[in-house]
Amino acid sequence: MKTIPVTKPFSPPIEEYKKYLDEIWERNWYTNNGPLLIQLQENLREYLGVREVACVSNGTVALQIALKALGIKGKVITTPFSYVATTSSIFWEGCTPVFADIDPHSLNIDPLKILEVIDKDTEAILATHCFGNACEIDFIEKIASEHGLKVIYDAAHCFGTKYKGESIFNFGDISTTSFHATKLFHSIEGGAIFSQDKNLRKRISFLRNFGHDGPEKFSGVGINGKNSEFHAAMGLCNLRYIDEILERRKHQSELYLSGLSFEKSRTVQIQKNTTFNFAYFPLIFDSFELMNIVKSELEKDSIFPRRYFFPSLSSLDYLEIKQPTPISDEIASKVICLPLYHDLLDSEIEKTIEIINHTVFNYD
Ligand SMILES: *Cc1c(COP(=O)(O)O)cnc(C)c1O
Repeated sequence: MKTIPVTKPFSPPIEEYKKYLDEIWERNWYTNNGPLLIQLQENLREYLGVREVACVSNGTVALQIALKALGIKGKVITTPFSYVATTSSIFWEGCTPVFADIDPHSLNIDPLKILEVIDKDTEAILATHCFGNACEIDFIEKIASEHGLKVIYDAAHCFGTKYKGESIFNFGDISTTSFHATKLFHSIEGGAIFSQDKNLRKRISFLRNFGHDGPEKFSGVGINGKNSEFHAAMGLCNLRYIDEILERRKHQSELYLSGLSFEKSRTVQIQKNTTFNFAYFPLIFDSFELMNIVKSELEKDSIFPRRYFFPSLSSLDYLEIKQPTPISDEIASKVICLPLYHDLLDSEIEKTIEIINHTVFNYD
């Protein structure tokens, strides 16, 4: 039986990639801000309508560099419902993650809960636009400006998402994203950092390249956050297909939306003013038990949804501050993401829908 995983990387025609390989060999320039990387940054800048794109080696180092660039050292208020890298990068940077619980409908950090945990040591908010759905950006910006906090958005799920008609990467002091192979747009491994502030962009360019300010001069501490020509080549190939990828995702999501009975389950509520990219299809069941039964019924037919995101990050054992996050804990226990990737067939979605509807119908 054909296995249907939760996601699969998009693969461009191999001839297109091979053409870049020939070029790379010819030039003998494999990494260190090469011409393909510069081209990718330029093409992305144009496609997204952002000021500048700083490509890095992955979405995790993007978060680490964002925290460093803003000089954050104290408490960072963050969401418990995200991929682990959101929290672990705060910790890795020697800062203290403090959780504010999520809104049960958007699955994003609840601004009112942010207000409850702000104290004199709070320096920043690091919020994930979970599953590609925008946070309450206006409210978060207002809180940040009233309390003198920096805002970083982990926009790893957000390629193609727009807020108020512009790329969501344009919001916050810094936005970061991931171009990992499992993401909607990818360069195998990779990521990017975006900022509206010229000085910050300059800091970021030093930080991602060992602090180099020219070959014999350094401007502060840095890390190796560069990406290679081989990764850039994959990004350039994939970017040609991005509109097709976004269209397909939308069509597939509409099949799920119209076919699922949503009896004893619901999906995420999209934030207003948001053009959603349909990156993921989360399904939140009424109980852990029902979620678990549906998941095993699907697995019997070789369909493998994933428990994104479980566990709730507030349960990580290396955290110093334990903040109760009952909404995140509860949702994490009963949510799955359904299969969604470019080559997934309509018939496979229909089969998935049928199994879910049938299982829920027969459950009491
Ligand atoms: C994938 C992901 C990351 C990490 O990106 P990598 O490129 O894999 O390092 C960070 N945050 C979120 C929300 C993610 O989904």
